[in-house]
Amino acid sequence: MKADWNNWIWQQQKRVKSFEQLEKVLNVTPDEREAYAKSNEMFNMGITPYYASLMDPNDPNCPIRLQSVPTMGELTVREMDLEDPLGEEKDMPVPGITHRYPDRVLFYTTHNCPVFCRHCTRKRKVSDPSSAAANKQLEDGLTYISEHKEIRDVVISGGDPLSNSDDRLEYILSRLRAMEHIEIFRLGTRNLVTLPQRITDSFAEMLTKYHPVFVHTHFNHPKECTQEAFDAVARLVNRGCVVNNQMVLLKGVNDDPKIVKELNHKLLMMRVRPYYIFQCDMAQGISHFRTPVEKGLEIIEALRGWTSGMAVPHYVIDGPGGGGKIPLIPNYVVKREGKKWTLRNYKNDQFVYEEP
Ligand SMILES: *Cc1c(COP(=O)(O)O)cnc(C)c1O
Ligand code: SF4
Repeated sequence: MKADWNNWIWQQQKRVKSFEQLEKVLNVTPDEREAYAKSNEMFNMGITPYYASLMDPNDPNCPIRLQSVPTMGELTVREMDLEDPLGEEKDMPVPGITHRYPDRVLFYTTHNCPVFCRHCTRKRKVSDPSSAAANKQLEDGLTYISEHKEIRDVVISGGDPLSNSDDRLEYILSRLRAMEHIEIFRLGTRNLVTLPQRITDSFAEMLTKYHPVFVHTHFNHPKECTQEAFDAVARLVNRGCVVNNQMVLLKGVNDDPKIVKELNHKLLMMRVRPYYIFQCDMAQGISHFRTPVEKGLEIIEALRGWTSGMAVPHYVIDGPGGGGKIPLIPNYVVKREGKKWTLRNYKNDQFVYEEP
């Protein structure tokens, strides 16, 4: 029924979680069957009917499917893999807060997500109900932020913060807004991609009380840019939210300049600004998604100059163990001789700039 389909609670309740349900929505391969049996203990499967409807039931290499259905690649743990790849626990002054940069923090408010992405960097926590942020932890986090006047930007994260109820989110936002040193906050959410129905009019309306509100989302493939996603973004943007995209570079999903260009063009049409491309990090069980670093540089090089500057995000590697985001840029400096810089442009033509 259409009313059910558009209801996010229905979407949440009808998530594809069991193997039997999975078999109803696609032709499962032997690899997927084995991977489900061996991985579900560790990292649950969960796929909203909406996101499942974007899958090609007959193509095991479908980019939507690769992001949400387990494959045997996940069972491989490599020697270099890290349990806490971004060193988030190390920079935790109180549970639920990562304070790494001088003026901003990551704030975890839940460990649940509508779809459990197979490439998730927080696999060790996400989908594990025993690690859900309790109210006490939430209060301790808010107290920490209120006592640290150097913080001006709060990244509300998870899991997916939109797995909280509207009331709980409004409570968090109102507490943060009441702190004079907090200038902006961001909601880091993949709901625009995996459960756009979650962005109800009343939710979007609630946000307008707490502006400026930034929403950082996670589209990885042009197939995810549907009419539903477009409408959900519009509900936010029409009410003054600024929406940015953080893509993760994933082998077999989007490791192709043509795909990234198409994605970024579609995002701009939705009024979503491509912000980051992340090199796939060193979390356990996602090495099958990792591309060479050159691939990311190749993608940036294929965008810069060839399309709108707004369609060119920053390509970054999150420094393993807690280094923060480190930008990588193709080298456009051919040589420097004193005050003379020889540069190349996107077409490889050379130009000399001379300082006075
Ligand atoms: C990504 C991140 C931020 C935000 O970084 P920006 O570059 O400002 O988007 C803040 N804190 C932590 C720990 C992060 O990983
Ligand atoms: S939405 Fe984000 S936190 Fe949740 S599973 Fe996907 S990548 Fe992980």
